[in-house]
Amino acid sequence: MKYRRTISAVCLVAVLQAVLSGCSRKQSAEQMWLTMGTYATVTVPPREMHRIEECLNVATSLTARVENSLSLFMPDSDLSRLNASDGRTVAVNEDTRAILAMSIKYGELTDGCFDSTVTPLVRLWGFNKGNVPPVPPSAEAIHEALQKVGFRQIILSGNKAAFRAPGMEVDSGGIAKGYAVDLCHDELARRGVKNVMINVAGNLRVRGTSKGGRPWRIGVRDPFDRERLLGTLELPHGMAVSTSGNYERFVVIEGRRYAHIIDPRTGIPVEGMAGVTALCTTATEADAMSTALFVLGPAQAPSVLSRLPDCHALLVPDTQPLRILVTPGFRRYFTPVPDHADRLEDLP
Ligand code: ADP
Ligand code: MG
Repeated sequence: MKYRRTISAVCLVAVLQAVLSGCSRKQSAEQMWLTMGTYATVTVPPREMHRIEECLNVATSLTARVENSLSLFMPDSDLSRLNASDGRTVAVNEDTRAILAMSIKYGELTDGCFDSTVTPLVRLWGFNKGNVPPVPPSAEAIHEALQKVGFRQIILSGNKAAFRAPGMEVDSGGIAKGYAVDLCHDELARRGVKNVMINVAGNLRVRGTSKGGRPWRIGVRDPFDRERLLGTLELPHGMAVSTSGNYERFVVIEGRRYAHIIDPRTGIPVEGMAGVTALCTTATEADAMSTALFVLGPAQAPSVLSRLPDCHALLVPDTQPLRILVTPGFRRYFTPVPDHADRLEDLP
């Protein structure tokens, strides 16, 4: 209930902002709301201004629909019921079914580096609902948690889902925001909104063009300095972007920092990567791939990327001096800030 009041307060602020920005005809309109434990925005250029409220209403209700299906903080959500199912088969709705199917698809495509069943490991290392342990988990504890990890142990048949191994749990945190962005994108496209950008916590997708018919442009943040950019990315119509970094969410155990993305092959948080940005044709793919490429790192990323010709990426290793590794497809749309122009390298 308290949660609902917060959301309404944010919507009210957003509506006021729209009224204010409506006074200046040349400005793009942007609306913000809270969903899935984070912020989201929808933006339209001046010529699409009259549709901003419709965009906000559509996006707010679709993201709430996804959140209600997948939230691990709501005991009645599909995912909470599935995680508590103890081997029993559970009926799931269309969104949950699609998320599980996509999770399996990207698990296969990334050789298991994207694995939405990493939950026992996520908790073991103190993320999400876990408590941060005073010392790193033992090899035995990691081994035990790994027994409950494996996307191939998800059984999905029509609108029914179940787990093959006991103790399994799905965490859709690495893909659900992208999925929600695609839902909003597709519904706004169906309604004939031609120029719009939908953004859920840095998972975003565009349609058409921005102000003055110019391409939508977004900044790619420097993973070593949140206040600075590595460069800007021009987004062609329909394309989506997602960034995964080790700077946003991490735990500190015995003075050492551990990233919130875990290598499902070892059970240990990924080391050696600072940030990854994926540019793909859907936000679901960009979300899953930014997480997966963070696990894969520069040595293994190219072979997986070769299976996805429309997925382009930028990888920043967690080393100094700064290196910005980009695929040829990413380079086409990316302009580094002048300071970093000489830092760009081809991802081999
Ligand atoms: P964010 O949630 O910060 O946007 P990501 O999209 O990269 O970042 O997703 C990270 C989340 O996904 C983690 O918080 C965790 O819940 C889950 N996760 C961690 N490691 C993996 C992995 N290897 N595969 C899939 N999901 C993961
Ligand atoms: Mg992701």
